[in-house]
Amino acid sequence: MRSEQIGGFLMEYGANSIVTPAPGAETLVAQLGLDPERVTCSAAARWRYLVRDGRMRGLPLQPCRFLLSDFLSLGARLRLMAEPFVAARHDDETVAHFVRRRFGTELLDYVVDPLVGGLFAGDPEQLSIAAVFPQLKGLERRAGSVIGGIMRSRLQHGAGRARGGPGQRVLSSFRQGLGTLPRAISRQLAGRVFLGHRVEAVQRRADGHRVKVRHGGDARWTTADSVVVALPAYAAAAILYELDPRIARALAEISHPPVAVVFLGYRARSIVHPLDAVGVLTPATERRGVLGMLFSSTMFPGRAPLGHVALTAFIGGARQPQLATLESEELEQLAQSEVRQLLGGRVAPVVLRAHRWRYGLPQPGLDHGPRLGRITALESEHAGLFLTGNYFSGVSTAACIQQALDTARRIREYLALGPVRRRLVA
Ligand SMILES: Cc1cc2nc3c(=O)[nH]c(=O)nc-3n(C[C@H](O)[C@H](O)[C@H](O)COP(=O)(O)OP(=O)(O)OC[C@H]3O[C@@H](n4cnc5c(N)ncnc54)[C@H](O)[C@@H]3O)c2cc1C
Repeated sequence: MRSEQIGGFLMEYGANSIVTPAPGAETLVAQLGLDPERVTCSAAARWRYLVRDGRMRGLPLQPCRFLLSDFLSLGARLRLMAEPFVAARHDDETVAHFVRRRFGTELLDYVVDPLVGGLFAGDPEQLSIAAVFPQLKGLERRAGSVIGGIMRSRLQHGAGRARGGPGQRVLSSFRQGLGTLPRAISRQLAGRVFLGHRVEAVQRRADGHRVKVRHGGDARWTTADSVVVALPAYAAAAILYELDPRIARALAEISHPPVAVVFLGYRARSIVHPLDAVGVLTPATERRGVLGMLFSSTMFPGRAPLGHVALTAFIGGARQPQLATLESEELEQLAQSEVRQLLGGRVAPVVLRAHRWRYGLPQPGLDHGPRLGRITALESEHAGLFLTGNYFSGVSTAACIQQALDTARRIREYLALGPVRRRLVA
């Protein structure tokens, strides 16, 4: 999470929103005194656009409207309705295989593929359904059908809630962007958190661990009763190699294709489209240069000065990793050209900034579940070592925070054992 003010605009380099309700994240936000800073996605962002045949189409979100709309062909909609009659499979499979088998190819190509690109910068042919959409696989496993399972749950829990009552999902952020959250955490931990310090290695000692920390040109070893590695898998792999090459190798196997973010600020009158949506996503079959774009200034207040709009484009990921490594100017050109074609951007933006994430989001494939099992088993061989991160929890920040809180509880329990019992556990 990193937010930056650029000439009255607010750019998000990483995550743009937290999906709420998310009890762990919301409690953390409240404890940090950030509730007054919270903003939720504006009602003006009423559409989710997908690209089909080169133009933007609003996706009807209510199931009946979706089935009555011509977003999918009649054949595809009939195929969709046959889902309850498809035989259930209990083993894991790719997202593409699952959706094709249960709902048909057109839903995969024009709805699920762009969604997977937007949520995970991922490729549905590679990702495990059990890892990225566990609820859907769970419905098939429990109820024999996704649609059947949803209908049953609606009957059990009441249609009101299913229609979007108290449990409705909302996108949230802060006035000054999501960077507010790590800034507030580091303020609360002032004197105990060391920014700009890079951990290079972890070693085991009889009475705990040693951690090698680099700050500028200086590297020093520091001791610790327990170590929590709250890093992306590839970064965790690098620092754990010395401690346990088996854990390091398992973590290093998780692929993180690169992804680039381009922030564009325009005068409002330069864009023809009303930007009445969260944004637009593109399916792979449309062969576009962006995975999608968020209409940042429609979603949240304070993202653009008066009379201006802000857009955030995402490029690369598992679909087109080579695009995410282009030079900044090329990324900016690519994003501008997509804005011109899809949204009618008539003149150049007034603010333009590209950022490349060399390693983007983890891509849990079919081997992810067994690999996590292996990592957890190895972690438990090292008393006092704790791993947490989006490769365990799923990439949503709300899930990361929940998993971090659970990890914090495990660490507290471990430290409460005291030095003598800790040595016995080790
Ligand atoms: C472009 C993009 C857009 C996203 N959009 C959303 C979104 O809208 N909503 C959402 O919920 N999620 C989103 N995500 C996913 C979400 O941001 C991540 O899953 C989440 O931030 C992971 O949290 P984390 O704390 O585990 O890891 P990170 O946020 O990656 O934090 C790890 C930290 O460790 C530091 N670090 C790395 N190596 C070392 C080292 N050796 N020593 C010391 N420190 C180190 C890093 O600098 C970093 O600060 C997005 C991700 C990306 C890349």
